[in-house]
Amino acid sequence: MSDKQKGLVEAVETLLPDAEHRFCVLHLYNNFKLSHRGLRLKEILWRAASSTRIVDFNAAMNELKNVDSKAFQWLSARSPQHWSRAYFSTYLKCDMLLNNLCESFNGMIRKAREEPIISMLELIRIMLMRRIHRQRDLVGKSSSRLCPRIQLKLDELKKEAMAYNVEWNGHEQFEVIGAFQEKNVVHLGEKTCSCRKWNVSGIPCKHAIAGMSYMHYPPEEFVVDCYKKEVYLKAYSRMMKPMHGPDEWPNSNRSPLHPPIVEKLPGRPKKARKKQLGEEVAKNGKKKN
Ligand SMILES: [Zn+2]
Repeated sequence: MSDKQKGLVEAVETLLPDAEHRFCVLHLYNNFKLSHRGLRLKEILWRAASSTRIVDFNAAMNELKNVDSKAFQWLSARSPQHWSRAYFSTYLKCDMLLNNLCESFNGMIRKAREEPIISMLELIRIMLMRRIHRQRDLVGKSSSRLCPRIQLKLDELKKEAMAYNVEWNGHEQFEVIGAFQEKNVVHLGEKTCSCRKWNVSGIPCKHAIAGMSYMHYPPEEFVVDCYKKEVYLKAYSRMMKPMHGPDEWPNSNRSPLHPPIVEKLPGRPKKARKKQLGEEVAKNGKKKN
């Protein structure tokens, strides 16, 4: 998931042909609103992005066309498989629209990024060493079969599922009917629902849960494996090895590593450089103790 810098679409398609490339919808919206302002447009864009069904996506886009044809043209020029759940692949089991994950990792390593290369890598290594066992212990304590946040999500959906009526076809399929007679088709064997939320996220939707309740099946069994506690613990089961100090590091027989040639970029540097102690002293003309 990228914040849609120019050229990335082609680069990802060429270098990672099997990867699904998404745009962070917050970044997409920030670009959109530069030329298309207003709460109504904002609401429609987010509705189109969050829709899991193509019919709902099309309804949002048609509304946008009626409200502001220029905004519609702008958004239509961006292929929806990069930014709308209605077009996301159902292979990945991930319905994320925002790249909060990368942003928070970036936030975590901000301090380390200011350091020279070896200190930077050392800070990140220690952060990860701590994080791996903390995450393992946190999830290990949970009594649920699922990761804690997924369980909370599922518990909310179980409550919502109670509002639906279910017609069973005698095998693995159901018609699930809501209060306004809206209908969804659930297939427990294929792990799908016509609302496509289950298909995209790997977590059963309220319609599917209504079908499971009818059959007295626990919905936890139908969550995709990657959200199960057992799989999470496996991912966090390998601890990092502690490292000796630099005086014990082996000597390299390669020629010394030279710093890269730094090209000066146009414009002002983004962040003020940290002054060394010596520079501070020289400027003040006084010597610090
Ligand atoms: Zn559904």
